[in-house]
Amino acid sequence: MPAPNTFFIETYGCQMNKADSASIRALLIERGMHESNEASSSDVVIINTCVVREHAEERIYGRLGHYRHIKERINPRLKVVITGCISRFSRERLISEYEVDIVADVYRQADLADRIASGLWEERTLNENGPYRFKPSEIDPAHPFKAFVSITHGCDNWCSYCVVPKVRGPMVSRASQDIIAEVKRLVENGVKEITLLGQNVNSYGQDIDDKSFVDLLVSLNGIMNNGWLRFLTSHPKDFSRELADAVIDLPSVCEHVHLPVQSGSDRILTLMRRKYTRADYIEKVSWLRARMPDLALSTDIIVGFADETDAEFEETLSLLREIRFEDAYLYHYSEREGSLAANEHIEYDAAAAKARLSRLIDVQRAFAAETLRRSIGKKMKVLVDGVARDKDSLIGRSRENRMVVVPNTHRIGDIISVTATELRGHTFIAV
Ligand code: SAH
Ligand code: SF4
Repeated sequence: MPAPNTFFIETYGCQMNKADSASIRALLIERGMHESNEASSSDVVIINTCVVREHAEERIYGRLGHYRHIKERINPRLKVVITGCISRFSRERLISEYEVDIVADVYRQADLADRIASGLWEERTLNENGPYRFKPSEIDPAHPFKAFVSITHGCDNWCSYCVVPKVRGPMVSRASQDIIAEVKRLVENGVKEITLLGQNVNSYGQDIDDKSFVDLLVSLNGIMNNGWLRFLTSHPKDFSRELADAVIDLPSVCEHVHLPVQSGSDRILTLMRRKYTRADYIEKVSWLRARMPDLALSTDIIVGFADETDAEFEETLSLLREIRFEDAYLYHYSEREGSLAANEHIEYDAAAAKARLSRLIDVQRAFAAETLRRSIGKKMKVLVDGVARDKDSLIGRSRENRMVVVPNTHRIGDIISVTATELRGHTFIAV
């Protein structure tokens, strides 16, 4: 069979998956292949998967059913490759029931690219036992001023609801000298905003004899050349006072912290094995806000975990009221095979979880609008990143990660100073 020529990538889930897809894309292009913008006529479709919640996993099976149909009716030459977080599960089912051609582990990107580009389809799996190397970050041609740099992969925390430690393995930190060299290269190539990525980015360095996360930020701050640094996702248990001070004192580090709290109830936090209390969390936020009242804070919350009571759910609502997050990713608990909670058959009430989620969304939406409105009339620095939906204006993100529409007299790729005049939904209009 001739080696394939075109590929199409579909990506689900978090920024780490997006960064992994960017690496796979670059590896395939390096090997002479071309990215297509139409899946059904491509030689290869690669689906980079997320299984963190049931809904995400169901969507993958839906997509696989769709591609099986395309193979049968439209393009029998099509090869379907699965990678990402589903790859350590259900390999047999993916191959036999969904006719997936290769199921590749999340850490075998280079070997996967070799196999695809050489047209080697006999072996159907690429498992987790191969060597892992952090891949150089790629500049996305659609957003050439922003880049994501993975500094850790995997997670050892085993929060009881979460399947990530199972599907991505233990945390491994990347050598700081490689990260620094990588960031230097990106900055020299015109990148103005770099986001450091990890499941628990602020636990960086705990597994190796190297810099701490704060020392790494200090080193990177020195080479950002007026560019911006962000980091995702922080775990509250490792969010130290030194880190709060670094966010405030290092000029390149943006005034936005994403700090998932998950619940406002101490009993639920203990059941979740999060290793901090509500009071700890509030104290950490106070370190940031005492010196930087305008800092933007976002979070993740799960409702309906285990036997969460109405009163415990109210504690989560009261935490929202107390902290006033600018943004929050809100979920109802979704049981995941392979997580500690599923292994221990922890019972939960799915209907109550869904009802609580819709209430939580309403409450948070109102708080977020109120919090955001306080920034009307204020100056913001914005990295202009693209054309706005009206096609007449430009759009970008402020240092606080707020979405801002600006006049088209500015240029894409510039960092500009503007004043917010209006809030439409969650987007600011600025002049
Ligand atoms: N490492 C990050 C988050 C990784 S998963 C952290 O610890 O914060 C992203 C988010 O998905 C989590 O913060 C959590 O809110 C949500 N999540 C993870 N497992 C879930 C589950 N089983 N059900 C519902 N939401 C879940
Ligand atoms: Fe999952 Fe907890 Fe690890 Fe985050 S810290 S990836 S929620 S186990």
